[in-house]
Amino acid sequence: MAHNRFGISFRLMGGLLAVVVSATLASLGGFLSLDQVGQQFAWTARSEIPLLVAAARLSQESQGIAFIGPAFGKVDNRFTLATKVGEANDKLASLDVLIQSIASFGADAEVIENIRVTDDMLRQHFARLADVVGQRIDAETELQNRWNRMLKLGEDIHEQAGALRKTIRPGAPDWPLLVAWTDAATAIVSNTISILSYRNKPQLERLATRLDGLWQEADSKYKRMTPNLRIRLAPVHKILGENAGGPPNFAERRLQLLDDERIESGMVSQAEVLSSRLVIAAADLFADTQSEVDGRNARVTAVIEWTSRLLAGTVALTLGVSLFMLLYINRSVIRRLTALRTAMTDHAQGRGGDIDIADRDEIGEMSRALSYFVGVIKDREDKLHAINADLSLAHHNLERIAITDRLTGLFNRTKLDEVFTNELARAERYGESVAIIMADVDKFKSVNDTFGHQVGDSVLIEFAAILRNLVRDTDTPGRWGGEEFLVICSHADLNGAHILAERIRAAVAGHSFPVIGQKTCSFGVASYRPGDTAETLVSRADAALYEAKQNGRDRVALEREAS
Ligand code: GH3
Ligand code: MG
Ligand code: MG
Repeated sequence: MAHNRFGISFRLMGGLLAVVVSATLASLGGFLSLDQVGQQFAWTARSEIPLLVAAARLSQESQGIAFIGPAFGKVDNRFTLATKVGEANDKLASLDVLIQSIASFGADAEVIENIRVTDDMLRQHFARLADVVGQRIDAETELQNRWNRMLKLGEDIHEQAGALRKTIRPGAPDWPLLVAWTDAATAIVSNTISILSYRNKPQLERLATRLDGLWQEADSKYKRMTPNLRIRLAPVHKILGENAGGPPNFAERRLQLLDDERIESGMVSQAEVLSSRLVIAAADLFADTQSEVDGRNARVTAVIEWTSRLLAGTVALTLGVSLFMLLYINRSVIRRLTALRTAMTDHAQGRGGDIDIADRDEIGEMSRALSYFVGVIKDREDKLHAINADLSLAHHNLERIAITDRLTGLFNRTKLDEVFTNELARAERYGESVAIIMADVDKFKSVNDTFGHQVGDSVLIEFAAILRNLVRDTDTPGRWGGEEFLVICSHADLNGAHILAERIRAAVAGHSFPVIGQKTCSFGVASYRPGDTAETLVSRADAALYEAKQNGRDRVALEREAS
């Protein structure tokens, strides 16, 4: 991955922006879709539900109206029929309101029109039916009144005829006339009363003829009566005429009613047909509304599915971008920072290691700064190393100077004391042998006195050179003080030290020193004995040296045997 075109912060911000944008898009898409779903549900609540309810009510009401039709046939009482027609008309009025509200919800115009037309026809039909029923009610009421009057008339005739008979002598010319009139009148009354129970046209026509005959009979008898009798019968005779032969005829009225009943029955069956048409139209509307609602529901379901897919997609996108961001941060920041930390640790622990400074972003800048820092530190380290080397050399020289005798270059007394301590400790701990040789130049004072101090010094320098040449690596030669020298012989016993001392003595005696020529030296040798300190060992060597001096110098004397 290339890290060098834009800064890390710029790229991180870009990535975060991408995450935020995709999350926002997801939310926005979800919101928009939910808004659509909400709108659909609002439409359902506002329109579909009232429409469905109205359609259901319409269907129910129209069925209620349809039931009125069959009910007509069973209703003998005209008042009940009138009530039913009134109810049906009320229902039709409420139906009209329903149809209007359904039309305003946007139901199918053709279906609405069909219902409206059927509703109008039904209303007109019921109005006419109500008229017919009303007329029939009037006619029947009139007939009933007549019937009541006839009943009363019958009683009157009976009463008057009885009274009149008492005033007429039997055998008088009016007597048979009165009897015949009374018989005919009574027959007219009883036949008229029976009219209401007749429902058959020929039967009624025959009855009308008979009444007519009876009336002719009564009238002819009446006309032949004396004026006095006629005056007394006049009111009853008049009523008889009105109800029998005279217009309007009772039987004709009854016949007319029977015709009206047929018309009414026809209208009722027509109402049935119209009602069932209304039921079908209402059912159609309900089905139509239902399918519209189903369509809407399918659209809402589609929107919901689309929304859930959109949300799932955008959530996946957001997760993907976030994952990419994590990987990117890991790759372009964390890994490089870790590498940088490792490089720093390595450099701190002196292992070195590469610092990647190729990139131009913030971490690249940091790496370059670190690289520069490491370079500076390395320079300082190199300088420090050089100074350390110088110091160490100086220290070494100082150490050397501290343990070196300035004149002869041999170890000085300090170093001899240190070697003594180590050798005696080793001898004591491991039982190893160590011996020392103490040397003193013979008659050295006279050299100084005769040739001067400088010549004396040169003699001491030459003597030291002889000593250094003859001793082994394990021996430590040093200047003990003045013109006295000490050799510490490690791993050597008294005999070994004696041999070395003798070899030195011979070499000195055989050497020709500048200016003074021949010079001799005396030696005292002693070896370690358990419990020895440096002082006790040196004092035995000193004593031996003294003995060598006493015995004529230029010789080696060994320490005295332990007593
Ligand atoms: P002997 O044989 O008994 O040892 O005789 P000697 O003359 O060597 O006696 P002594 O040990 O008393 O004298 C030592 C002399 O060494 C005394 C002193 O002046 C001289 N001397 C000591 N140290 C130095 C030195 O560093 N340089 C010089 N030139 N002379 C020194
Ligand atoms: Mg001396
Ligand atoms: Mg001396």
